[in-house]
Amino acid sequence: MDDYSSTTRRRRSRNSKAPRKASPQAKAIKRRVEFIEQITVQQLAHGMSVKAGQVIKVLIGMGQMAQVNDSLDFDTAQLVAAEFEFEVVNATFNEATHMIDIEESDEDEVPRAPVVTIMGHVDHGKTTLLDTIRNTRVAAGEAGGITQHVAAYQVKHGGQVITFIDTPGHEAFTEMRARGAQVTDIVILVVAADDGMMPQTVEALNHAKAAGVQIIVAVNKCDRQNANPARVRQQLMEHQLVPEEYGGETLFCDVSALKGDGVEDLLDNILLVAELGEYTANPDRHAEGVVIEARLERGKGAVGTLIVQKGTLKKGDRLVIGTTWGRVRALSDFRGKPLKKAAPSTPVEVMGLEEVPSAGEQWVVVKSERDAKTLIDHRTTEAKALAARSRKRLTIEDLLRRGDTDETQQLNLIIKSDVRGTLEAIDAAFRKLEVEGAELKILHTGVGAVSESDVTLAHTYQALIIGYNVRADARARKAIISRGVEFRTHKVIYEAIDQVKRVMSGLLGPSIEEVSQGRAEIRQIFGVPKIGTVAGCYVTEGKIARAHHIRLLRDNKIVWEGRLASLRRFKDDVREVERGYECGMNLDGFNDIKPGDEIEAYTREEVEAS
Ligand code: GDP
Repeated sequence: MDDYSSTTRRRRSRNSKAPRKASPQAKAIKRRVEFIEQITVQQLAHGMSVKAGQVIKVLIGMGQMAQVNDSLDFDTAQLVAAEFEFEVVNATFNEATHMIDIEESDEDEVPRAPVVTIMGHVDHGKTTLLDTIRNTRVAAGEAGGITQHVAAYQVKHGGQVITFIDTPGHEAFTEMRARGAQVTDIVILVVAADDGMMPQTVEALNHAKAAGVQIIVAVNKCDRQNANPARVRQQLMEHQLVPEEYGGETLFCDVSALKGDGVEDLLDNILLVAELGEYTANPDRHAEGVVIEARLERGKGAVGTLIVQKGTLKKGDRLVIGTTWGRVRALSDFRGKPLKKAAPSTPVEVMGLEEVPSAGEQWVVVKSERDAKTLIDHRTTEAKALAARSRKRLTIEDLLRRGDTDETQQLNLIIKSDVRGTLEAIDAAFRKLEVEGAELKILHTGVGAVSESDVTLAHTYQALIIGYNVRADARARKAIISRGVEFRTHKVIYEAIDQVKRVMSGLLGPSIEEVSQGRAEIRQIFGVPKIGTVAGCYVTEGKIARAHHIRLLRDNKIVWEGRLASLRRFKDDVREVERGYECGMNLDGFNDIKPGDEIEAYTREEVEAS
C-alpha cells in the first residue's frame, strides 16, 4: 500500500504543473493507474483522484458489493477504471528477469539422488535410524566417521546415492511446504512395533500425504519382545496405507534401528521407490534449492546447510535467500570436505552469507550483486504487503475459492474431537457427503484440542478446522489469529455437517460467527447456600461480561455452555470484568466446576457472506 501510494504521489507531483484538464494525448499517457499484485478500492480511487464512494457506486452497478479496503482483481479494476476513462496497468514485478535466463527442456534433465526425510512419533526411533544409516554406511572406510550432528548427509547403497535430511518434526516439514519448498521425495514413517500408531504418527502421516510425497513405513524396534509388526500394518491399513504383501502399494520394512537389522532392506526399498519416481534435475543451469539449517559460527559468520535442487552451485556464486543474500566464499560437503561445486540433491555447507537465513527458505543464484539487491527490495515490499493482507481472515468462501480447480470446488477439512467414537462418526458422515460440483478432502482428524500443528496444516492447505466439543490450545489460538485460519466449533454433529454442506453447495447466506471475547482461569471454588457453586476466577484474556455466552472448558474440552447467573467483584454485581482482575462467577444451572477449569466468553455476531 505504501509502495503504491508513493508511486501515485510521485506521478502527481511530476504532473503538478500540467493543467488539470489534459489534452487527449496527454490523457492517454497519464490516465493510468498502476496495479502491483493487488489494488484496493481506496487505492484505485486515489489513483484516479476520485472519491472511494464513486468507485463503490460503479462496483455496485456491476453487481459487486465492496468496501474501501477490499481488494479488486486486475480485471475488475480495469472495468471500473474504464468508467472513469482510466487505464489499469499491470506493473507486477517479474522476479525471473533478475535471475539468470535459461531455456530448459526435459532433455536436459538427468537422474538425481532421492531426498529422504524420516518422520514419526517421538521416541519411535527417528534419530537412532538416521544415526545408524549414517554410521554404518558413511563411516565405513572413513577415518573416525561422523559423530557430530549433521542436518543432512548422503550415503551410498548399491552403487547409488541417497540424501537424508533431518527435519525437526512434521510441523517444520509443513512449514517448508507453506513456504512453497518441497524438499523431500520420500518420507520414511517410523512406527515402533511395540507402541504401534500414536497421535503424532497420524499427524506425520497426514502431513506427508497432504504434501503428496512417497511414503515407506519402517516398523522399528522389531528386536523387542513385545514387538507386533502385524498390528502396525493393521493400524496403518485403517489409514489407507496398504502393505504390498496384502496387495497394496506401500512398502513396509521391519527394522531395528538400534541393532541395524533390516536397514539394508530399507535402503533397497528407498532405491526401488526412487526408481519408480524417476527423480531428475538439470545440472547445467544456475542453482536453486532450500535452506535446511543455518547458524552463526564464530570466525565463520553465517553458515547454512543448503540442499541443491536444480543446477550446480559453485564457489563464488551469488545467491538470494528469501530477503537476504550472500556470496559463496566456501563450499563443503557434510563431512566438511571442500567442494568446488555441488550438483542436484547434494547437501552442502555454505559460508559467506550476509545473515542467518531461516530453515525452509528457498534460495536462487543470481547474476550479480545488483540483481540480488533488486530482488531483495522487491521481496521486502512484497512481504510487507502480504503481512497486511494476511491480517484479513480467510472466510469459508475464500477457502472454497482457493481450491477452485476446473469445475470442481474443493473444501479441505481438519476435524478435531473430544472422543474417538464421535470423531469416527463425524469422519464417516463427512465422507458420505455428496454435493454436486464440490469435493471434500479431509486432511487430518484427531482427538484433543486443536494444536499449532493443526493450524499450520490448515494454513498451508487453506483448510477449515472443525472442532467438535473441543477448543484450540493457547499456542494454536495465537496461530489462528496471526495466520487468519478459519476455525468453527460445534456441539452437535448434524450442525457441523449441515454447515459444511451449505458451504459446499454455495448456499452461504448470512452466517453467525462466534467472536471470542475473553478467558478466565478458575482458581477456587466456593459453595454458597441457595446459590450453588461460585467460581473464584482470574481474567487472563480480554474481558468477561454478564451478557456474553459462556463456555466451561476442562483441558480445552467443552464441559458446559450457557450463561452466567452472576458476575461479581467483591460483593458488587458488575457488568463486566477486564483482564488482570479477579471476580466471582456463578454459572446458570451448572455447578460441577473444578479449580483449573477455564471460562471462555464469546458473542455471536451475524456476518454477511461476501
Ligand atoms: P526419536 O524421538 O524418534 O528420534 O527416537 P530416538 O531415536 O531418540 O529413540 C528413542 C529411544 O528408543 C532411544 O532410547 C533408543 O535407544 C530406542 N530405540 C530406537 N530404536 C530402537 C530399536 O530398534 N530397538 C530398541 N530396542 N530400541 C530402540
